[in-house]
Amino acid sequence: MVSSSMEELVSLCKRRGFIFQSNDIYGGVKGLYDYGPMGVELKNNLKSSWWKSMIYERDDIEGLDASILTGREVLKYSGHEDTFSDPLVDCKSCKSRWKSDQLIDKSCPNCKSKDLTDPRPFNLMFKTSIGPVDDGSSFAYLRPETAQQIFTNFKNVLDSTSRVLPFGIAQIGKAFRNEITPRNFIFRVREFEQMELEFFVEPGSDEKWHKYWIESRYHWWIEQGINKNRLELNEVNKNDLSHYSKATVDIMYNFPHGKEELEGIANRTDFDLASHTKNQKDFNISSKVLKNLKSTTKLAIQNLEDKKWFIPYVIEPSAGVERGFLALLNEAYTVDDKNSRIVLALKPHLSPIKAAVIPLKRNNDKLVNQAKNIKNNLQKLGLGRVMLENSGNIGKNYRRHDEIGTPLCITVDFETLEDKSVTIRDRDTMKQQRLSPEQLKNYYQKYFD
Ligand code: ATP
Repeated sequence: MVSSSMEELVSLCKRRGFIFQSNDIYGGVKGLYDYGPMGVELKNNLKSSWWKSMIYERDDIEGLDASILTGREVLKYSGHEDTFSDPLVDCKSCKSRWKSDQLIDKSCPNCKSKDLTDPRPFNLMFKTSIGPVDDGSSFAYLRPETAQQIFTNFKNVLDSTSRVLPFGIAQIGKAFRNEITPRNFIFRVREFEQMELEFFVEPGSDEKWHKYWIESRYHWWIEQGINKNRLELNEVNKNDLSHYSKATVDIMYNFPHGKEELEGIANRTDFDLASHTKNQKDFNISSKVLKNLKSTTKLAIQNLEDKKWFIPYVIEPSAGVERGFLALLNEAYTVDDKNSRIVLALKPHLSPIKAAVIPLKRNNDKLVNQAKNIKNNLQKLGLGRVMLENSGNIGKNYRRHDEIGTPLCITVDFETLEDKSVTIRDRDTMKQQRLSPEQLKNYYQKYFD
């Protein structure tokens, strides 16, 4: 049975150390979460799978890790200062605040009152000051998307790598949005991570590349273990497009709380590079951008044939790590109806723990030392975290590792002390087999390859 109950996922996350409410001991802060021992591994594995598919398995994308604090001018000329807002409505009766599209029949979802203010724009960016003097003159923003610093670094990357179009710059990192009403566990939060690619192309080839990236990203999520029956592509209505987009297609996923956006793939045209470029008047810019006299750098490319400079278009697949995490948990969570065994059937490359090595008897020095050796040898193979379980009861260990999605459990018993053989148990089939050390190494490597 595949679960779709948010309560079950929230409970598993807390019980098994995936996700905790942030600032828990002081009552928690809404829209902030911390990732525990299992959560950090799953998150890292998801990000690493994205990074591999973008950078290592291709020859046309470079990586970047830019600063989170972003100078005001970047987000002014990108258009975020003016337009990155949600329509905010106040309930005059109970004083609660809502995004206007959350109202139910034009009344407050909390107290049902219809005595509401008109919607007004609420900017979602977090502000902070830079330097020791907080007089409001030198403030910065916590970036609301990772993309802007990719654009501002366009020339740095181009000059240091000699790339030609088409090519991309990819980045994974934190983004911050002061969401009016964070909700649905980690689906809508105020601090999250994005996996973003800005893929620069010749103007005119943008629509072809947009289609390419929609297909590519859709299939990538299926490869991570998402059932395609719970995925859907949704072309964003022209009136709902972000200020920079000519066309956006969202990959929607059937989350436990409903169908919502997992990743957006936007055709951002020349909007961003044009907004930040020096000497805007020299270019034939297709988008409406702010007049920017301050940039020191030309964010353009020279056509090798006619020597004319032009601003590339950009296609942006932008995925949320937390939303990916939630979707993958939802897909993987299974309950065996017969014996109510909960199994997190994650794909092995995403599992937080690759193998648990379990001595049959707790605190038996000989067994524990043998188990430690096996653990260290498997760990050296570099395929992810291997865990030594010295907590007793084999049955309980199997149960715990099923719930956190560990694909292999290796038991060290008294026979192991004689001939070094171990019992290996498969999470999905529950089949057990006896393997010699050489067989174990081959089995383990083959399993994760
Ligand atoms: P939504 O319409 O759901 O608010 P968005 O269209 O504003 O999302 P984008 O600006 O396209 O989102 O951001 C790219 C990705 O970043 C989204 O597809 C999503 O996975 C993730 N994301 C955006 N906002 C949040 C948030 N508040 N919490 C968690 N993830 C987010």
